[in-house]
Amino acid sequence: MNGKKRTRWQRRPGTIGGKLPWNDWRNASSWRKATQFLLLAINIYIGVTFYYWVRYFETAGTSVYIPRPGGIEGWLPIAGLMNIRYTLETGFLPPIHAASMLLLVAFILISLLLKKAFCSWLCPVGTLSELLGNLGKKVFGRNFTLPRWLDIPLLSLKYLLLSFFLYIALSMPAQGIQYFLMSAYGMIIDVKMLDFFRHIGSATLIFVVVISVLSLFIRNAWCRYLCPYGALLGLFSLLSPFKIRRNADSCIDCGKCAKNCPSHIPVDRLIQVRTVECTGCMTCVESCPVASTLSFSLQTPPGAQDNGKPLWRQKTLSGVAMTLLVLGILFATIGYAIYANVWDTPVPDHMYFQLIPKAKMIGH
Ligand code: SF4
Ligand code: SF4
Repeated sequence: MNGKKRTRWQRRPGTIGGKLPWNDWRNASSWRKATQFLLLAINIYIGVTFYYWVRYFETAGTSVYIPRPGGIEGWLPIAGLMNIRYTLETGFLPPIHAASMLLLVAFILISLLLKKAFCSWLCPVGTLSELLGNLGKKVFGRNFTLPRWLDIPLLSLKYLLLSFFLYIALSMPAQGIQYFLMSAYGMIIDVKMLDFFRHIGSATLIFVVVISVLSLFIRNAWCRYLCPYGALLGLFSLLSPFKIRRNADSCIDCGKCAKNCPSHIPVDRLIQVRTVECTGCMTCVESCPVASTLSFSLQTPPGAQDNGKPLWRQKTLSGVAMTLLVLGILFATIGYAIYANVWDTPVPDHMYFQLIPKAKMIGH
């Protein structure tokens, strides 16, 4: 920073910036929330239609028939990982649950380009977790942070879980993966996942309640400490060329960016945010009172002097651009899967009539 360090919260004369009204089209938070709610609605639709599809086979075709929603494959990340290994080893698209692989690849692509944007823009679990955090803040007046001596070891838990799942998914050779996913269990792996929630065990239920209550106090408790999916995407996000970048010369050291960051990143002390914990949520950018000082961009923002420059010339992403990119990558992948004829699983209905009523007895 040039010259004498300015007092905290003192705004540099002549600077503009700060929070935009929610209905201003440039407000990144509004675009993010709209994208999150769209994905939440899509996932609720997937859950409900999948339930009715399963019931149709459980009732031997006597209840209403609703086609299986292809998006359910997005809830099968282990099958997706196994199929990535299958495809890398054989060079072919997998014979079953190929859509789970393509969706996982799409989310990895988003992380390679836009940090962990999957977590804060698309993931319905992230959205619910954020809503609980907001509710906690309203009720208790604040969210809490764990002391560093506890926070740091807890942060490693998600990597332990990730290692376990990577071992399960990647240790099998392609032939074994094909054998497993084409087995009775593999064919109805999605039904088994639904049953996990439908017939939830008391231990799992207690865990869900505990983590939900914790999320009221500790923002994104599940995502921060336990989610192996987020851990995987975080590792890929280290390569992202887009990052939160700060112009130290125009920064007035108000600390608002760090104070509002849901991942507790000390943005006000960094020039670039490289950490795996950054979800590209742009909350810090929205909080910064000085225009063109903090941005999600390819290069350091020009600072308040140059804030008239269009965003594309600053190599900066706006909320609209983020929405278009994350949804564009997601829907282009779905389009490709439909085009390649792998969006729907190739299991014939007569197999489902045999397997789904016996799902409880089918193990791996
Ligand atoms: S650094 Fe900014 S974009 Fe990254 S998680 Fe924190 S608030 Fe969100
Ligand atoms: S970058 Fe952070 S500390 Fe600097 S002016 Fe913006 S909000 Fe304040």
